[in-house]
Amino acid sequence: MKICVLPGDGIGPEITEQALRVLEALRGDGLDFTVEKGLIGGCAVDATGSPYPDATAKLAQEADAILLGAVGGPQWDTLPREQRPERGLLAIRKQLNLFANLRPAILYPELANASTLKPEVVAGLDILIVRELTGDIYFGQPRGIREENGERVGFNTMVYSESEIRRIGKVAFEAARKRGKKLCSVDKMNVLECTQLWRDVMIELSADYPDVELSHMLVDNAAMQLVRAPKQFDVMVTGNMFGDILSDEASMLTGSIGMLPSASLDANNKGLYEPSHGSAPDIAGKGVANPLATILSVAMMLRYTFNLEAPAARIEMAVKKVLAAGYRTGDIYEAGTRRVGTKE
Ligand code: ATP
Ligand code: MG
Repeated sequence: MKICVLPGDGIGPEITEQALRVLEALRGDGLDFTVEKGLIGGCAVDATGSPYPDATAKLAQEADAILLGAVGGPQWDTLPREQRPERGLLAIRKQLNLFANLRPAILYPELANASTLKPEVVAGLDILIVRELTGDIYFGQPRGIREENGERVGFNTMVYSESEIRRIGKVAFEAARKRGKKLCSVDKMNVLECTQLWRDVMIELSADYPDVELSHMLVDNAAMQLVRAPKQFDVMVTGNMFGDILSDEASMLTGSIGMLPSASLDANNKGLYEPSHGSAPDIAGKGVANPLATILSVAMMLRYTFNLEAPAARIEMAVKKVLAAGYRTGDIYEAGTRRVGTKE
């Protein structure tokens, strides 16, 4: 197992360091891996002039999986667009063809007060959103702003090929198979032809997964159901734009950005794993950031890239135990719990 670690900017280095300590602790269980570190984002711009230097690209290409902290910060916001730290992230996703973005939204019972919803609506919430990441209206041609009849007209194109839908569908069906065996595909087939094809291909695929129960929902209804009765969902699969919106919505149901991991996978389950949150420049270097989203990203790495369910589950169990024992970083602290720093 070759793991490339890209700590990045802001709290990135502090939180990836803790995740690596967890990984090291698993060596005792016979887990065998090598770690190589590289630069990405603002720190890479400062050192090399590029947010995704060639040396990092080489490391990422040769690794089986990549663990990333976060990129960006106010000191780089005035740089030209192609030198911004965020460009580093777009470049690595594109280079590695990471088309499947997996974002779990889990409510830990100990953190029930952090949710914006009533406890009875979210207790036990455990959703996985599978978002397509390289297609859809974000990349479709033609696109632009043109002059027409003396005024400006903006236009974008929603495009998905059958093969693109099938490969993201497979990831979602496989994930559902490893979980609650329920998959809800989200589209807008009553208005958009592109998503009619999406629905048709999902139905065709379902023949290969008789053990997974497939359902369909229009995106407007899905947005409503996520806040009305989110526990009806197990795995949700959708396109790039709907997934962008729904995954942010779902993450807020858990109320704790410092707790949510993510995975972005290619066709061979090679993946980039990172916390869902950003580089949090406001608390960087203070040793108070919550490392759990990054630690849980390591669990996703073991599960999805290396197919090692036991150590993945072990990490998740350890996180639950730490919460149950009352330890909290500042972002999830409440009266009666024990405040600890990143390293503790
Ligand atoms: P990005 O554009 O990179 O997503 P952002 O501006 O949306 O970044 P974050 O960097 O995620 O925002 O930070 C949003 C808020 O959440 C900040 O106040 C930050 O301190 C807090 N935050 C983010 N991650 C953590 C964490 N791991 N632990 C504690 N607080 C965090
Ligand atoms: Mg953000």
